[in-house]
Amino acid sequence: MAGLPLKKNQTVELVIEDLSHEGNGVGRYQGYTLFVPGALPGETIIAKATKLKKQFGYARLMEIREPAASRAEPPCPIYKRCGGCMLQHMDYDAQLAFKRKLVEENLRRIGKIEGALIHPTIGMEDPWRYRNKAQVPIGEEEGGLIGGFYAQRSHEIIDMKECLIQHEKSDEVVACVKEIAGKYGIRAYDEEAHSGLLRHVVTKVGFATGEVMIVLVTNGERIPHAEALVQELVEAIPGVKSIVQNINTKRTNVIFGDVTRVLWGEEYIYDTIGDVKFAISARSFYQVNPVQTERLYKKALEYAALTGEENVIDAYCGIGTISLFLAQKAKHVFGVEIVPEAIEDAKRNARLNEMDNVTFAVGEAETVIPRWYEEGNVADVIVVDPPRKGCDEKLLQTIIAMKPKRVVYVSCNPATLARDLRILEDGGYKMAEVQPVDMFPHTAHVECCALLIKK
Ligand code: SAH
Repeated sequence: MAGLPLKKNQTVELVIEDLSHEGNGVGRYQGYTLFVPGALPGETIIAKATKLKKQFGYARLMEIREPAASRAEPPCPIYKRCGGCMLQHMDYDAQLAFKRKLVEENLRRIGKIEGALIHPTIGMEDPWRYRNKAQVPIGEEEGGLIGGFYAQRSHEIIDMKECLIQHEKSDEVVACVKEIAGKYGIRAYDEEAHSGLLRHVVTKVGFATGEVMIVLVTNGERIPHAEALVQELVEAIPGVKSIVQNINTKRTNVIFGDVTRVLWGEEYIYDTIGDVKFAISARSFYQVNPVQTERLYKKALEYAALTGEENVIDAYCGIGTISLFLAQKAKHVFGVEIVPEAIEDAKRNARLNEMDNVTFAVGEAETVIPRWYEEGNVADVIVVDPPRKGCDEKLLQTIIAMKPKRVVYVSCNPATLARDLRILEDGGYKMAEVQPVDMFPHTAHVECCALLIKK
């Protein structure tokens, strides 16, 4: 490309100055920004330009001339090929500091919020084996079934014995399914030919209960030797409570199809977060890091400062995780969520916990909550936990009009958090403090909880 200081495949020396929000090293070559996966701030490296655009480019890390103090040896043998984790090459304390800094920079740059109280990121004592759900694509090699992950930017399945961020049980289940299903001659699904049977093995583990669910996602109804297969799985895996089949015969990257049926045991497994119990089905959404979820939602509850007298709205409530947490201390909680199945789960979970001071509604937060307001219903405290794109402006304006004493904003994207905090600050709220919580160690994801108080 004309006008750029370097060409594709050119090798240059770079000093890495920063980490991008995706966890890539950021360096400048004659003022031109290069993103280098695997490089860390403070390092002097040799990098080869791989992709150049007008404003910035990408380069591959070839050699580390001077490593950063924060550099760590990634314990996972397949770290580079997998791409599921982005930060295993960085010391865990440095990861936590990076996540806090990302929140701080976004609040300052996008939110124009200076001098905010941003606490150090709450990390995990043991930041490994934290995930309770794995979705493993199945393939074939000469010796039988393989299962693991797609090589980066491809659909080639690479076999994997263990994933260090998954619960051990998950590795055990996948190994058993590969062996036992392979023995019964079950073929893996072949994406290109759209033939074969077993597409994915999905595992779910209740961390608090030890209950295990196995989901076999198949391209077709009939599983040969299903009974024997299931019996062997039950005997091989202690703790298994549910084995279900999900049928997906479509040519698609989407994992699940529409039909799910129980092959053995229960339709649900259970888990608890704090004192709240949750039923988890094959399709239902559930937070993937239960240990850190509890910490994050405890913080949300603390920020809500409930005395038992408050009406609380939980916008974007999902399966009601936060709503049920809040209901333990609130007069009444009103949850709103756009996905009807999630609301079904939320209601079931409320019954499971014998909580009758919660009401769940299906719909867009930005439609339902303004309607409530027009009908004269206001909340004392509003909690929002929106998806990455943040809150709809109409919802924020309704919150401003409703004037709750406190707004608790749970966010998985500091950029949209910052944008929305600016709107709330302009509407009469003071951003009091922010608590980042590390929900996804070794990835670049940043989750946090902010408290706003009515001025
Ligand atoms: N706190 C929830 C998870 C929130 S994730 C829990 O722990 O279960 C964000 C949720 O917002 C998702 O469930 C998504 O379906 C929902 N959502 C997305 N857009 C929405 C909208 N416009 N109105 C209401 N809910 C929405």
